Amino acid sequence: MSDQSQPTAQVRQVSLSVAKDAHRNFQPRLGQVKIGVKPPNQITKAFAEHAVVGFDVLLSPIVSGPIIVTNGGGSLRSAPRVVLIFWGTAWTNPSTSPSANDIISSVKSVLSGPYMSALRQYGIKRGSFLESIILTGPEAPASFSDVDVQLQVFLLVDGSIVDGSNNQDVYVVFMPPGSTYSPGGARGAHSTAWLGLSGFSNKWAVLAWIGNDSLDVMMSAFTHELAEMCTDPGGDTWTVKNQPASLNEIGDVCNAVDAKLNRINVESYWSVTDNACIVPTAYSVRRALTWAKKKLNGKGIRSLKSPIPSLNSFIVNL
Ligand SMILES: [Zn+2]
Repeated sequence: MSDQSQPTAQVRQVSLSVAKDAHRNFQPRLGQVKIGVKPPNQITKAFAEHAVVGFDVLLSPIVSGPIIVTNGGGSLRSAPRVVLIFWGTAWTNPSTSPSANDIISSVKSVLSGPYMSALRQYGIKRGSFLESIILTGPEAPASFSDVDVQLQVFLLVDGSIVDGSNNQDVYVVFMPPGSTYSPGGARGAHSTAWLGLSGFSNKWAVLAWIGNDSLDVMMSAFTHELAEMCTDPGGDTWTVKNQPASLNEIGDVCNAVDAKLNRINVESYWSVTDNACIVPTAYSVRRALTWAKKKLNGKGIRSLKSPIPSLNSFIVNL
């Protein structure tokens, strides 16, 4: 009797060979995992329901005292291409909620909207959606670690199953229902996997996992990790200096301080310019020029680029 679930529409399904030679090249780096997102113990309804009309939403951080952000000189993902990896056959089941398609459409909304605009102050331009896959084999372990996730990303890139050609790529692994993070205390975390032995010019895969939860909580965690993967992919770029190690990136000090953006629940991130946690609601020419360190000197914006294909593409590419 056939009781096969229909695969989720539009998403490519792949599985990895267990005995892959590439395993020998995988080198876990246990000490290098950056900062899980703690469980959302302080999502404030007043924030989540905040009306977003015309102005960026500015919110209070979860820590007191001055927040000092410094650049340690590490790399950035300055125009990230986002690869979504849904781990486990549960993602092919139409009754899985949220579904892979729910998450994909939410991620596309975030990437095509203004969410990333204030990351320009850290040298980050708007990201783009590259692709999504469902990884049906091996199954995600019921209890998973960062290294489990790093290994799958390594194998997918090393096996050319997902694109590893561009050093702007970031890989986000969505965990299926029923899986739990074995160290506990986090709903997501970002880290890197070493690709150097595989001959890639891109030596590091920058990745994150997102624990299974409601769509709102998963999108909060996704946006948190997106902001941090871009600004501090290896733990040595933009960090918060005067807070505990568990709160040393621009998402951490705004952890679970969420707002709705185009009906998607997103987490704010620290904006030095605003001295606040921010959910940007629009691209601003003035701010983009300031952050890109470009001056008009009294001339029009065509003094910077002419012709301008569209104001939108001009701003996001400044
Ligand atoms: Zn974080």
